[in-house]
Amino acid sequence: MRHRVAIIGSGFGGLFAAQALRKAPVDITLIAKTTHHLFQPLLYQVATGILSPGEIAPATREILRRQKNALVLLGEVIEFDLAAKTITAVVASGEYSIEYDSLIIAVGASQSYFGNDHFAQFAPGMKSIDDALELRGRIFSSFELAELSDNATEINRLMTFVIVGAGPTGVEMAGQIAELAHRTLVSDFRKIDTRATRVILLDAASTMLGNFGTPLSEKAKLQLERLGVEVRLGAKVVGIDHNGLDIISSDSTPHRIEASCKIWAAGVMANPLTKTIAAQSGAQLDSAGRILVELDSSLPGHPEIFVIGDMMSLKHLPGVAQVAIQGGRHAAKQIIKRLKGDKSRTPFEYRDKGSMVTVSRFYAIASIGKIHTAGIGAWLMWLGVHIVYLIGFKHRVTTLLHWAVSFVGSGRAERVITQQQIIARSAIERLGDQVPNPYSVDEDSE
Ligand SMILES: Cc1cc2nc3c(=O)[nH]c(=O)nc-3n(C[C@H](O)[C@H](O)[C@H](O)COP(=O)(O)OP(=O)(O)OC[C@H]3O[C@@H](n4cnc5c(N)ncnc54)[C@H](O)[C@@H]3O)c2cc1C
Repeated sequence: MRHRVAIIGSGFGGLFAAQALRKAPVDITLIAKTTHHLFQPLLYQVATGILSPGEIAPATREILRRQKNALVLLGEVIEFDLAAKTITAVVASGEYSIEYDSLIIAVGASQSYFGNDHFAQFAPGMKSIDDALELRGRIFSSFELAELSDNATEINRLMTFVIVGAGPTGVEMAGQIAELAHRTLVSDFRKIDTRATRVILLDAASTMLGNFGTPLSEKAKLQLERLGVEVRLGAKVVGIDHNGLDIISSDSTPHRIEASCKIWAAGVMANPLTKTIAAQSGAQLDSAGRILVELDSSLPGHPEIFVIGDMMSLKHLPGVAQVAIQGGRHAAKQIIKRLKGDKSRTPFEYRDKGSMVTVSRFYAIASIGKIHTAGIGAWLMWLGVHIVYLIGFKHRVTTLLHWAVSFVGSGRAERVITQQQIIARSAIERLGDQVPNPYSVDEDSE
Protein backbone atom coordinates (compact mmCIF):
# COMPACT_ATOMS: atom_id res chain seq x y z
CA MET A 1 0.00 0.00 0.00
CA ARG A 2 1.22 3.48 -0.84
CA HIS A 3 1.87 6.08 1.83
CA ARG A 4 -1.41 7.86 2.66
CA VAL A 5 -1.36 11.63 3.11
CA ALA A 6 -4.49 13.30 4.47
CA ILE A 7 -4.78 17.05 3.97
CA ILE A 8 -7.46 19.01 5.79
CA GLY A 9 -8.46 22.28 4.13
CA SER A 10 -8.52 23.43 0.52
CA GLY A 11 -7.26 26.96 1.20
CA PHE A 12 -3.81 28.24 0.33
CA GLY A 13 -2.00 25.82 2.64
CA GLY A 14 -3.94 22.66 1.80
CA LEU A 15 -4.13 23.17 -1.96
CA PHE A 16 -0.47 24.09 -2.43
CA ALA A 17 0.58 21.11 -0.26
CA ALA A 18 -1.51 18.76 -2.42
CA GLN A 19 -0.05 20.21 -5.62
CA ALA A 20 3.50 19.91 -4.27
CA LEU A 21 2.87 16.18 -3.76
CA ARG A 22 1.65 15.58 -7.32
CA LYS A 23 4.70 13.56 -8.37
CA ALA A 24 5.24 11.85 -5.02
CA PRO A 25 4.46 8.12 -4.58
CA VAL A 26 1.63 8.87 -2.18
CA ASP A 27 -2.17 8.68 -2.12
CA ILE A 28 -3.61 12.02 -1.05
CA THR A 29 -7.04 12.56 0.46
CA LEU A 30 -7.92 16.23 0.66
CA ILE A 31 -10.91 16.90 2.91
CA ALA A 32 -12.49 20.35 3.19
CA LYS A 33 -15.80 21.66 4.38
CA THR A 34 -16.25 23.66 1.18
CA THR A 35 -15.99 22.31 -2.34
CA HIS A 36 -13.88 25.24 -3.52
CA HIS A 37 -10.47 26.82 -3.06
CA LEU A 38 -11.16 30.33 -1.84
CA PHE A 39 -8.98 33.29 -2.78
CA GLN A 40 -9.86 35.27 0.36
CA PRO A 41 -7.97 38.47 -0.55
CA LEU A 42 -10.60 39.24 -3.21
CA LEU A 43 -13.71 38.51 -1.14
CA TYR A 44 -14.37 42.23 -0.81
CA GLN A 45 -14.73 42.45 -4.60
CA VAL A 46 -17.48 39.82 -4.52
CA ALA A 47 -19.19 41.77 -1.73
CA THR A 48 -19.07 45.01 -3.73
CA GLY A 49 -20.25 43.56 -7.04
CA ILE A 50 -16.98 43.54 -9.00
CA LEU A 51 -16.34 39.79 -9.19
CA SER A 52 -18.51 36.69 -9.14
CA PRO A 53 -17.98 34.01 -6.47
CA GLY A 54 -16.80 31.54 -9.12
CA GLU A 55 -13.91 33.76 -10.14
CA ILE A 56 -12.34 33.65 -6.70
CA ALA A 57 -13.52 30.20 -5.67
CA PRO A 58 -12.88 27.54 -8.31
CA ALA A 59 -13.91 23.97 -7.49
CA THR A 60 -11.06 22.13 -5.78
CA ARG A 61 -11.73 18.89 -7.67
CA GLU A 62 -11.54 20.82 -10.95
CA ILE A 63 -8.14 22.28 -10.00
CA LEU A 64 -6.86 18.83 -9.06
CA ARG A 65 -8.63 16.92 -11.84
CA ARG A 66 -5.38 15.92 -13.58
CA GLN A 67 -3.61 15.00 -10.36
CA LYS A 68 -4.45 11.31 -10.25
CA ASN A 69 -2.96 10.70 -6.79
CA ALA A 70 -5.39 13.19 -5.19
CA LEU A 71 -8.88 12.29 -3.95
CA VAL A 72 -11.02 15.28 -2.98
CA LEU A 73 -13.74 14.76 -0.35
CA LEU A 74 -16.30 17.11 1.11
CA GLY A 75 -16.46 17.01 4.89
CA GLU A 76 -16.02 19.03 8.04
CA VAL A 77 -13.39 17.37 10.19
CA ILE A 78 -14.65 17.11 13.74
CA GLU A 79 -12.41 14.56 15.42
CA PHE A 80 -8.87 13.17 15.39
CA ASP A 81 -7.47 10.00 16.84
CA LEU A 82 -3.77 10.79 16.73
CA ALA A 83 -2.80 7.39 18.19
CA ALA A 84 -4.85 5.38 15.68
CA LYS A 85 -4.01 7.91 12.92
CA THR A 86 -7.60 8.50 11.86
CA ILE A 87 -9.71 11.58 11.29
CA THR A 88 -13.48 11.80 11.31
CA ALA A 89 -15.46 14.17 9.14
CA VAL A 90 -19.13 14.98 8.92
CA VAL A 91 -21.36 15.82 5.96
CA ALA A 92 -25.13 16.19 5.68
CA SER A 93 -25.52 12.46 5.05
CA GLY A 94 -23.50 11.41 8.10
CA GLU A 95 -19.97 10.83 9.38
CA TYR A 96 -17.01 9.03 7.85
CA SER A 97 -13.43 8.32 8.93
CA ILE A 98 -10.21 7.95 7.02
CA GLU A 99 -6.79 6.65 7.99
CA TYR A 100 -3.53 8.43 7.26
CA ASP A 101 0.21 7.92 7.50
CA SER A 102 1.02 11.63 7.22
CA LEU A 103 -1.35 14.48 7.94
CA ILE A 104 -1.31 18.15 6.93
CA ILE A 105 -3.76 20.34 8.81
CA ALA A 106 -4.57 23.68 7.16
CA VAL A 107 -8.00 24.73 8.39
CA GLY A 108 -7.27 28.46 8.60
CA ALA A 109 -8.72 30.95 11.04
CA SER A 110 -12.17 32.22 12.04
CA GLN A 111 -13.59 35.70 12.53
CA SER A 112 -13.06 37.15 16.00
CA TYR A 113 -15.47 39.59 17.63
CA PHE A 114 -13.23 39.86 20.69
CA GLY A 115 -15.75 38.15 22.94
CA ASN A 116 -18.77 39.98 21.50
CA ASP A 117 -20.10 37.20 19.30
CA HIS A 118 -23.56 38.76 19.26
CA PHE A 119 -22.11 41.53 17.02
CA ALA A 120 -21.94 38.97 14.19
CA GLN A 121 -25.66 39.17 13.49
CA PHE A 122 -25.48 42.91 12.86
CA ALA A 123 -21.99 43.19 11.39
CA PRO A 124 -20.99 40.15 9.33
CA GLY A 125 -17.33 39.45 8.87
CA MET A 126 -15.66 38.40 5.66
CA LYS A 127 -14.19 34.93 5.70
CA SER A 128 -16.27 32.99 3.20
CA ILE A 129 -18.32 33.24 0.01
CA ASP A 130 -21.43 33.16 2.21
CA ASP A 131 -20.14 36.20 4.08
CA ALA A 132 -19.34 38.08 0.88
CA LEU A 133 -22.78 37.39 -0.63
CA GLU A 134 -24.46 38.32 2.63
CA LEU A 135 -22.60 41.63 2.58
CA ARG A 136 -23.38 42.18 -1.09
CA GLY A 137 -27.05 41.71 -0.21
CA ARG A 138 -26.83 44.20 2.65
CA ILE A 139 -24.87 46.82 0.69
CA PHE A 140 -27.05 46.89 -2.43
CA SER A 141 -30.29 46.47 -0.44
CA SER A 142 -29.47 49.53 1.62
CA PHE A 143 -29.54 51.70 -1.52
CA GLU A 144 -32.73 50.02 -2.75
CA LEU A 145 -34.48 50.66 0.56
CA ALA A 146 -33.23 54.24 0.74
CA GLU A 147 -34.76 54.89 -2.69
CA LEU A 148 -38.11 53.72 -1.29
CA SER A 149 -38.08 55.89 1.81
CA ASP A 150 -39.45 59.39 2.28
CA ASN A 151 -37.96 59.77 5.71
CA ALA A 152 -34.68 61.72 5.73
CA THR A 153 -33.41 60.16 8.97
CA GLU A 154 -34.07 56.70 7.64
CA ILE A 155 -32.41 57.49 4.33
CA ASN A 156 -29.32 58.71 6.16
CA ARG A 157 -29.21 55.55 8.24
CA LEU A 158 -29.56 53.36 5.15
CA MET A 159 -26.88 55.31 3.31
CA THR A 160 -24.33 55.16 6.12
CA PHE A 161 -21.87 52.27 5.88
CA VAL A 162 -19.54 51.50 8.74
CA ILE A 163 -16.54 49.24 8.46
CA VAL A 164 -14.96 48.17 11.74
CA GLY A 165 -11.24 47.46 11.49
CA ALA A 166 -8.74 49.53 9.49
CA GLY A 167 -6.49 46.66 8.45
CA PRO A 168 -6.09 45.67 4.78
CA THR A 169 -9.60 44.18 4.49
CA GLY A 170 -11.29 47.18 6.10
CA VAL A 171 -9.36 49.65 3.95
CA GLU A 172 -10.14 47.76 0.73
CA MET A 173 -13.80 47.42 1.65
CA ALA A 174 -14.16 51.10 2.58
CA GLY A 175 -12.50 52.21 -0.66
CA GLN A 176 -14.75 50.01 -2.77
CA ILE A 177 -18.00 51.03 -1.08
CA ALA A 178 -17.00 54.68 -1.53
CA GLU A 179 -16.27 54.14 -5.24
CA LEU A 180 -19.52 52.22 -5.63
CA ALA A 181 -21.58 54.99 -4.05
CA HIS A 182 -19.75 58.04 -5.36
CA ARG A 183 -19.08 56.76 -8.86
CA THR A 184 -20.83 53.58 -10.01
CA LEU A 185 -24.35 54.14 -8.70
CA VAL A 186 -24.60 57.90 -9.23
CA SER A 187 -26.94 57.80 -12.23
CA ASP A 188 -28.81 54.62 -11.26
CA PHE A 189 -31.21 56.13 -8.73
CA ARG A 190 -33.85 58.84 -9.17
CA LYS A 191 -34.71 59.86 -5.62
CA ILE A 192 -31.54 59.39 -3.61
CA ASP A 193 -28.21 60.98 -4.42
CA THR A 194 -25.72 58.18 -3.78
CA ARG A 195 -22.91 60.77 -3.62
CA ALA A 196 -24.31 61.67 -0.20
CA THR A 197 -23.45 58.19 1.08
CA ARG A 198 -21.29 58.15 4.20
CA VAL A 199 -18.59 55.52 4.46
CA ILE A 200 -16.96 55.40 7.89
CA LEU A 201 -13.88 53.34 8.69
CA LEU A 202 -13.35 52.76 12.43
CA ASP A 203 -10.46 51.34 14.38
CA ALA A 204 -9.66 51.24 18.07
CA ALA A 205 -5.94 51.67 17.27
CA SER A 206 -4.46 55.09 16.67
CA THR A 207 -3.01 54.13 13.29
CA MET A 208 -4.31 52.17 10.35
CA LEU A 209 -2.49 49.49 8.37
CA GLY A 210 0.11 49.25 11.13
CA ASN A 211 2.34 46.75 9.30
CA PHE A 212 3.07 49.17 6.48
CA GLY A 213 4.67 51.88 8.61
CA THR A 214 3.52 55.46 9.00
CA PRO A 215 4.35 57.10 5.64
CA LEU A 216 2.53 54.48 3.57
CA SER A 217 -0.45 54.17 5.90
CA GLU A 218 -0.77 57.98 5.96
CA LYS A 219 -0.87 57.94 2.16
CA ALA A 220 -3.56 55.27 2.20
CA LYS A 221 -5.56 57.32 4.70
CA LEU A 222 -5.29 60.44 2.54
CA GLN A 223 -6.45 58.51 -0.51
CA LEU A 224 -9.43 57.12 1.40
CA GLU A 225 -10.31 60.65 2.51
CA ARG A 226 -10.07 61.84 -1.10
CA LEU A 227 -12.67 59.19 -1.91
CA GLY A 228 -14.90 60.61 0.81
CA VAL A 229 -14.28 57.94 3.47
CA GLU A 230 -14.34 59.20 7.07
CA VAL A 231 -11.47 57.51 8.89
CA ARG A 232 -11.95 57.49 12.64
CA LEU A 233 -9.02 56.05 14.56
CA GLY A 234 -8.94 55.53 18.33
CA ALA A 235 -12.62 54.62 18.14
CA LYS A 236 -13.56 51.46 20.01
CA VAL A 237 -16.85 49.77 19.17
CA VAL A 238 -18.68 48.88 22.38
CA GLY A 239 -22.10 48.01 21.00
CA ILE A 240 -23.80 47.10 17.73
CA ASP A 241 -27.50 46.68 17.03
CA HIS A 242 -29.87 46.77 14.05
CA ASN A 243 -29.80 50.52 13.76
CA GLY A 244 -26.18 51.44 14.41
CA LEU A 245 -23.11 51.31 16.58
CA ASP A 246 -21.94 52.73 19.89
CA ILE A 247 -18.34 53.77 20.04
CA ILE A 248 -16.02 55.27 22.62
CA SER A 249 -13.27 57.54 21.35
CA SER A 250 -9.77 57.63 22.79
CA ASP A 251 -10.71 60.56 25.07
CA SER A 252 -13.49 58.33 26.50
CA THR A 253 -16.31 60.24 24.80
CA PRO A 254 -19.22 57.99 23.79
CA HIS A 255 -20.69 58.39 20.29
CA ARG A 256 -23.53 56.78 18.42
CA ILE A 257 -23.52 56.22 14.64
CA GLU A 258 -26.82 55.37 13.01
CA ALA A 259 -26.03 52.94 10.21
CA SER A 260 -27.94 50.15 8.55
CA CYS A 261 -24.97 48.33 7.04
CA LYS A 262 -22.11 47.41 9.35
CA ILE A 263 -19.15 45.28 8.31
CA TRP A 264 -16.72 43.60 10.69
CA ALA A 265 -13.13 43.49 9.47
CA ALA A 266 -11.48 43.71 12.86
CA GLY A 267 -9.97 40.43 13.89
CA VAL A 268 -9.31 36.76 13.45
CA MET A 269 -9.03 33.91 15.89
CA ALA A 270 -7.89 30.36 15.52
CA ASN A 271 -10.10 27.68 14.03
CA PRO A 272 -11.95 25.76 16.80
CA LEU A 273 -10.19 22.55 15.67
CA THR A 274 -6.95 23.81 17.23
CA LYS A 275 -8.41 23.08 20.69
CA THR A 276 -9.29 19.51 19.67
CA ILE A 277 -5.76 18.95 18.39
CA ALA A 278 -4.19 20.53 21.45
CA ALA A 279 -6.32 18.41 23.81
CA GLN A 280 -5.17 15.21 22.10
CA SER A 281 -1.54 16.03 21.56
CA GLY A 282 -0.78 18.26 24.55
CA ALA A 283 0.40 20.98 22.14
CA GLN A 284 0.40 24.54 23.47
CA LEU A 285 -1.69 27.34 22.00
CA ASP A 286 -0.54 30.95 21.67
CA SER A 287 -2.63 33.93 22.83
CA ALA A 288 -4.50 33.91 19.49
CA GLY A 289 -5.32 30.20 19.94
CA ARG A 290 -2.91 29.06 17.22
CA ILE A 291 -0.89 25.86 17.69
CA LEU A 292 2.75 26.30 18.68
CA VAL A 293 4.56 24.00 16.28
CA GLU A 294 8.10 22.64 16.02
CA LEU A 295 10.59 24.49 13.81
CA ASP A 296 9.71 22.24 10.87
CA SER A 297 6.01 23.12 11.44
CA SER A 298 5.19 19.65 12.74
CA LEU A 299 2.95 19.05 15.74
CA PRO A 300 5.07 18.50 18.89
CA GLY A 301 5.49 14.75 19.43
CA HIS A 302 4.06 13.97 15.98
CA PRO A 303 6.66 14.31 13.21
CA GLU A 304 4.07 12.85 10.80
CA ILE A 305 1.62 15.74 11.34
CA PHE A 306 2.14 19.25 9.96
CA VAL A 307 0.12 22.26 11.09
CA ILE A 308 0.40 25.09 8.59
CA GLY A 309 -1.00 28.47 7.53
CA ASP A 310 -3.26 30.61 9.69
CA MET A 311 -3.54 28.01 12.45
CA MET A 312 0.22 27.67 12.94
CA SER A 313 2.14 29.68 15.52
CA LEU A 314 5.82 29.86 14.62
CA LYS A 315 8.26 32.75 15.09
CA HIS A 316 5.40 35.29 15.05
CA LEU A 317 4.75 34.69 11.35
CA PRO A 318 1.66 36.58 10.16
CA GLY A 319 -1.58 35.01 8.96
CA VAL A 320 -1.06 35.72 5.27
CA ALA A 321 -1.38 33.70 2.09
CA GLN A 322 2.36 33.34 1.48
CA VAL A 323 2.94 31.78 4.91
CA ALA A 324 0.28 29.18 4.09
CA ILE A 325 1.52 28.57 0.52
CA GLN A 326 5.16 28.20 1.54
CA GLY A 327 4.11 26.15 4.60
CA GLY A 328 2.15 23.76 2.37
CA ARG A 329 5.09 23.26 0.05
CA HIS A 330 7.47 22.83 2.97
CA ALA A 331 5.28 20.16 4.59
CA ALA A 332 5.06 18.29 1.28
CA LYS A 333 8.86 18.33 0.96
CA GLN A 334 9.27 16.97 4.48
CA ILE A 335 6.91 14.09 3.75
CA ILE A 336 8.76 13.23 0.52
CA LYS A 337 12.09 13.41 2.36
CA ARG A 338 10.89 11.06 5.11
CA LEU A 339 9.60 8.62 2.50
CA LYS A 340 13.12 8.47 1.11
CA GLY A 341 14.36 7.46 4.54
CA ASP A 342 15.77 10.84 5.57
CA LYS A 343 14.33 11.48 9.03
CA SER A 344 16.13 14.82 9.55
CA ARG A 345 13.81 17.76 10.09
CA THR A 346 14.30 20.91 8.07
CA PRO A 347 13.12 24.11 9.77
CA PHE A 348 10.46 26.10 7.91
CA GLU A 349 12.07 29.29 6.62
CA TYR A 350 9.56 31.89 5.48
CA ARG A 351 10.51 34.15 2.58
CA ASP A 352 8.68 37.44 2.98
CA LYS A 353 7.52 38.58 -0.47
CA GLY A 354 6.03 41.83 0.82
CA SER A 355 2.54 43.20 1.33
CA MET A 356 0.11 45.25 -0.74
CA VAL A 357 -3.24 46.86 -0.19
CA THR A 358 -5.37 48.41 -2.87
CA VAL A 359 -7.19 51.51 -1.69
CA SER A 360 -9.12 52.40 -4.82
CA ARG A 361 -8.92 51.93 -8.56
CA PHE A 362 -5.42 52.86 -9.74
CA TYR A 363 -4.17 53.39 -6.17
CA ALA A 364 -2.48 50.85 -3.92
CA ILE A 365 0.32 50.81 -1.40
CA ALA A 366 3.07 48.22 -1.54
CA SER A 367 5.92 47.32 0.77
CA ILE A 368 8.25 44.81 -0.86
CA GLY A 369 11.73 44.54 0.63
CA LYS A 370 13.25 47.99 0.37
CA ILE A 371 10.55 49.21 -1.99
CA HIS A 372 7.82 51.24 -0.30
CA THR A 373 5.54 52.78 -2.84
CA ALA A 374 2.03 54.18 -3.26
CA GLY A 375 -0.07 55.05 -6.29
CA ILE A 376 -0.63 53.57 -9.71
CA GLY A 377 2.71 51.72 -9.81
CA ALA A 378 1.79 49.85 -6.64
CA TRP A 379 -1.69 49.24 -8.03
CA LEU A 380 -0.25 47.66 -11.20
CA MET A 381 1.96 45.45 -9.03
CA TRP A 382 -1.12 44.48 -6.99
CA LEU A 383 -2.97 43.65 -10.22
CA GLY A 384 -0.13 41.48 -11.53
CA VAL A 385 0.36 39.56 -8.28
CA HIS A 386 -3.34 38.82 -7.89
CA ILE A 387 -3.68 37.63 -11.47
CA VAL A 388 -0.68 35.32 -11.04
CA TYR A 389 -2.09 33.75 -7.87
CA LEU A 390 -5.66 33.39 -9.11
CA ILE A 391 -6.06 29.75 -9.99
CA GLY A 392 -7.10 28.72 -13.49
CA PHE A 393 -6.78 30.40 -16.88
CA LYS A 394 -10.47 31.09 -17.42
CA HIS A 395 -10.77 32.75 -14.03
CA ARG A 396 -7.86 35.04 -14.86
CA VAL A 397 -9.47 36.08 -18.13
CA THR A 398 -12.93 36.78 -16.70
CA THR A 399 -11.43 38.54 -13.68
CA LEU A 400 -9.45 40.84 -15.97
CA LEU A 401 -12.63 41.58 -17.94
CA HIS A 402 -14.54 42.40 -14.77
CA TRP A 403 -11.70 44.61 -13.56
CA ALA A 404 -11.80 46.46 -16.87
CA VAL A 405 -15.56 46.99 -16.44
CA SER A 406 -15.10 48.34 -12.91
CA PHE A 407 -11.80 50.20 -13.03
CA VAL A 408 -11.57 51.52 -16.59
CA GLY A 409 -15.33 51.89 -16.88
CA SER A 410 -17.52 52.59 -13.90
CA GLY A 411 -19.76 49.53 -13.91
CA ARG A 412 -20.07 46.53 -11.64
CA ALA A 413 -20.75 43.31 -13.48
CA GLU A 414 -21.87 41.30 -10.44
CA ARG A 415 -24.65 43.18 -8.73
CA VAL A 416 -27.05 40.25 -8.47
CA ILE A 417 -28.68 39.80 -5.10
CA THR A 418 -31.46 37.34 -4.55
CA GLN A 419 -34.95 38.28 -3.46
CA GLN A 420 -34.29 36.39 -0.25
CA GLN A 421 -31.29 38.60 0.43
CA ILE A 422 -33.35 41.73 -0.13
CA ILE A 423 -36.16 40.83 2.19
CA ALA A 424 -34.91 38.22 4.61
CA ARG A 425 -31.65 39.36 6.08
CA SER A 426 -31.68 40.32 9.68
CA ALA A 427 -29.74 43.57 9.44
CA ILE A 428 -32.23 45.20 7.10
CA GLU A 429 -35.45 43.49 8.00
CA ARG A 430 -36.30 46.03 10.68
CA LEU A 431 -37.00 48.87 8.33
CA GLY A 432 -38.88 51.10 10.70
CA ASP A 433 -42.43 52.22 10.06
CA GLN A 434 -41.55 54.66 7.31
CA VAL A 435 -40.20 52.33 4.67
CA PRO A 436 -42.77 50.20 2.88
CA ASN A 437 -41.59 46.67 2.15
CA PRO A 438 -42.59 45.97 -1.45
CA TYR A 439 -42.24 42.23 -0.95
CA SER A 440 -44.19 41.94 2.26
CA VAL A 441 -46.62 39.03 2.33
CA ASP A 442 -50.06 39.45 3.82
CA GLU A 443 -50.12 36.72 6.47
CA ASP A 444 -53.89 36.26 6.12
CA SER A 445 -53.50 35.38 2.47
CA GLU A 446 -51.24 32.41 3.20
C1 LIG B 1 -10.95 39.05 3.72
C2 LIG B 1 -9.53 38.56 3.73
C3 LIG B 1 -8.56 39.22 3.00
C4 LIG B 1 -7.25 38.76 3.01
N1 LIG B 1 -6.32 39.44 2.27
C5 LIG B 1 -5.06 38.97 2.22
C6 LIG B 1 -4.09 39.60 1.39
O1 LIG B 1 -4.38 40.61 0.74
N2 LIG B 1 -2.84 39.06 1.36
C7 LIG B 1 -2.52 37.95 2.08
O2 LIG B 1 -1.37 37.48 1.99
N3 LIG B 1 -3.40 37.35 2.87
C8 LIG B 1 -4.67 37.83 2.97
N4 LIG B 1 -5.58 37.20 3.76
C9 LIG B 1 -5.15 36.06 4.59
C10 LIG B 1 -5.06 34.78 3.78
O3 LIG B 1 -6.21 34.60 3.00
C11 LIG B 1 -4.86 33.63 4.76
O4 LIG B 1 -3.68 33.87 5.46
C12 LIG B 1 -4.78 32.29 4.05
O5 LIG B 1 -6.00 32.03 3.37
C13 LIG B 1 -4.50 31.19 5.04
O6 LIG B 1 -4.47 29.97 4.37
P1 LIG B 1 -4.87 28.63 5.14
O7 LIG B 1 -4.66 27.53 4.18
O8 LIG B 1 -4.18 28.57 6.45
O9 LIG B 1 -6.41 28.79 5.48
P2 LIG B 1 -7.62 29.11 4.52
O10 LIG B 1 -7.19 29.64 3.22
O11 LIG B 1 -8.56 29.90 5.35
O12 LIG B 1 -8.25 27.67 4.25
C14 LIG B 1 -8.85 26.93 5.27
C15 LIG B 1 -9.51 25.72 4.63
O13 LIG B 1 -9.90 24.84 5.66
C16 LIG B 1 -11.25 24.44 5.46
N5 LIG B 1 -11.77 24.10 6.78
C17 LIG B 1 -11.93 24.88 7.87
N6 LIG B 1 -12.36 24.17 8.91
C18 LIG B 1 -12.47 22.89 8.47
C19 LIG B 1 -12.86 21.67 9.07
N7 LIG B 1 -13.21 21.60 10.36
N8 LIG B 1 -12.88 20.56 8.31
C20 LIG B 1 -12.52 20.58 7.01
N9 LIG B 1 -12.13 21.72 6.38
C21 LIG B 1 -12.09 22.85 7.11
C22 LIG B 1 -11.89 25.63 4.78
O14 LIG B 1 -13.07 25.26 4.09
C23 LIG B 1 -10.77 26.03 3.84
O15 LIG B 1 -10.78 25.23 2.69
C24 LIG B 1 -6.90 37.63 3.77
C25 LIG B 1 -7.87 36.96 4.52
C26 LIG B 1 -9.18 37.41 4.48
C27 LIG B 1 -10.24 36.69 5.28
